[in-house]
Amino acid sequence: MSVGLLRSLQDRPHLLELAYEAARRMLGLVRRWITTGSLLGRALVPLERVTKGPLFDCRMCGQCVLHHTGMTCPMTCPKHLRNGPCGGVRPDGGCEIVPEMTCVWLQAWERSKAMPLFGGDILRILPPLDGRLKGSSAWVNEFRGPLQDPPTPWTG
Ligand code: SF4
Repeated sequence: MSVGLLRSLQDRPHLLELAYEAARRMLGLVRRWITTGSLLGRALVPLERVTKGPLFDCRMCGQCVLHHTGMTCPMTCPKHLRNGPCGGVRPDGGCEIVPEMTCVWLQAWERSKAMPLFGGDILRILPPLDGRLKGSSAWVNEFRGPLQDPPTPWTG
């Protein structure tokens, strides 16, 4: 399947949120074996790379928030903004930095409207990005790592 075809799946956000939920439940069943050094934990890094790379242009930030952002990767925003657009969106919806690119956050907002399960999560404020997690598995971090214990001000 070509990368272009895979990327077009982003315009089917409901399918993608169902796939996310299925993966979350499946991995939840084996979460006790998901640690940074375990076989499964190590296997998840390349698995995320080869699946989320072509699908979402994933940058392996290690703190996946796709289901909060209309299944649109916020790390593809040239400013890496994770809580909405900057003030520079052009009148035609183009990015301030890369005019030929539609603002990632406009796409995220539109796509989240087609997501009955997680679409409302776009309204939640996300914690700041932890650069130390770059290159690690977001699944490992979510189940067993630092994302289990976000800073207190962000959990209220
Ligand atoms: S939010 Fe992070 S882990 Fe998720 S697709 Fe984007 S770069 Fe990858």
